[in-house]
Amino acid sequence: MIEFHKKWITNSCLIIKENYQKINMLDQEIGDGDHGTTILRGLEEAVSHFSTKNEFNNSISFMNEISKLMRVSMGGASGILMTIFFKELGNLNLNDLYNSTLTIFSNTITKIQTRGKVKFGDKSFLDIFIPIHQDLIENNFIDLDKIIKKIDESLEYTKSLEARVGRAKFLDSKGVGVIDPGAYSTSIILKEFFKEINNEKNN
Ligand SMILES: [Mg+2]
Repeated sequence: MIEFHKKWITNSCLIIKENYQKINMLDQEIGDGDHGTTILRGLEEAVSHFSTKNEFNNSISFMNEISKLMRVSMGGASGILMTIFFKELGNLNLNDLYNSTLTIFSNTITKIQTRGKVKFGDKSFLDIFIPIHQDLIENNFIDLDKIIKKIDESLEYTKSLEARVGRAKFLDSKGVGVIDPGAYSTSIILKEFFKEINNEKNN
């Protein structure tokens, strides 16, 4: 059970590590320039925690610990908002992947909207979560190829959006023409999540 979460976090950390400079560069254009470094720091903190400690009761308490560590090490709004999904993922039920994933997405979205005062189309990582949640509902099934394609499309779409949250909203350009860095890191984390779900289904 916890193995799923460990594999997902480890893989996400690897891919973020390969891309964090690119994410920083996007953030240099529309934010304060450090989002790649920040998300990498949070994930590395998580990986080092479960690499050195072996006793965890269940996935709920495990993901509670992980999300708290990440929140503190990341700091700021991204620390608070991006760890919501990690905490919710403690509720993943490997015997009911589809329904538990739907619930996790719906709870994550509600909490991001409430705590972050952010809406769909504001140019944030919510612009990845919401279309994927819609796709899951419509397809009634987790189809990896379709989801990866949808994540890529949703990410690309954030380029065209005017920022209504974060520093980018103060720019003359409103960030138009630049992919949202938080959406970029989220796209990686969600792709790794669905890849792991797919591995689980084929086991
Ligand atoms: Mg920052």
